[in-house]
Amino acid sequence: MIAEIRDEILLGGHISTAGGISKSPERAAVFDFGSMQVFTKNQMQWRAKPLPDEEIDRFKENRTKFNIRRVMAHASYLLNLATQKPSLQEKVRASFAEEMRRAIQLDIDYLTIHPGSTGDSNINMAVSNVANMVNEVTEIPGRTMVLLETSAGQGHTVGHRFEELALMLDQVEDKTRVAVCFDTCHVFAAGYDIKSREGYGETMDNFDSVIGLNKLEAFHLNDSKKEMGSRIDRHEQLGEGLLGAEGIANFILDKRFRGKPFIMETPKGELGYSEDISVLDNILKGMSDES
Ligand SMILES: [Zn+2]
Ligand SMILES: [Zn+2]
Repeated sequence: MIAEIRDEILLGGHISTAGGISKSPERAAVFDFGSMQVFTKNQMQWRAKPLPDEEIDRFKENRTKFNIRRVMAHASYLLNLATQKPSLQEKVRASFAEEMRRAIQLDIDYLTIHPGSTGDSNINMAVSNVANMVNEVTEIPGRTMVLLETSAGQGHTVGHRFEELALMLDQVEDKTRVAVCFDTCHVFAAGYDIKSREGYGETMDNFDSVIGLNKLEAFHLNDSKKEMGSRIDRHEQLGEGLLGAEGIANFILDKRFRGKPFIMETPKGELGYSEDISVLDNILKGMSDES
């Protein structure tokens, strides 16, 4: 990939923490990543053993050594911030706070979370439940920001319309510690045209007027197995899905987003990133031929 641009867009991917989280920066460095995403605990379990101090220190050292400039922790899939059930709310609250404390211990930049799903409750209740949860964890002292992720709109999930995310952000008190993670697969599945040039332009203008581009902190860079508007969340390798290389190119070539992390969550993970990177290289090569 053309080195300077690649450096500026802070490309990254979701990285395994097998053998300990301190091993992840070296795995990311195999791909020359400037950013990465990890789970700080088993994402399918509520509880986790505390991180040993030596492991925390080793993680920080390795992050510096391998020059991973932005690190994102992805919160557990079990956490439904929008839930109405009081018994579940207690569990979610405790577990979300635990994830925030771990991210802060590890000096991780972002804790990204799906806003969750409403069941049969109304959207305003769901929005204030999400905001209340975010308000609680952002009271924990530290620099880690919460990123609310754009959703595909599957089932009763909230956050697939920019308006819903805007309402949530509005009710968060500490605005310096909350922003949005824009997942290209999810936004496409939710029904926004980000594939055509014009559609992309309009969608980003819409994001800017509803939420504000200053609140767009990071991207999940994924292709989509399902069509635009399907509201089904199925990631695909870059260039092999229905968003395709042309949709991915809209983001990669947008100079407004230089310096932002673009983190891949493609299905093959570390086994597929080399192919994903060659798709991005081709996009950038096309650009340099044009200029
Ligand atoms: Zn994502
Ligand atoms: Zn997804």
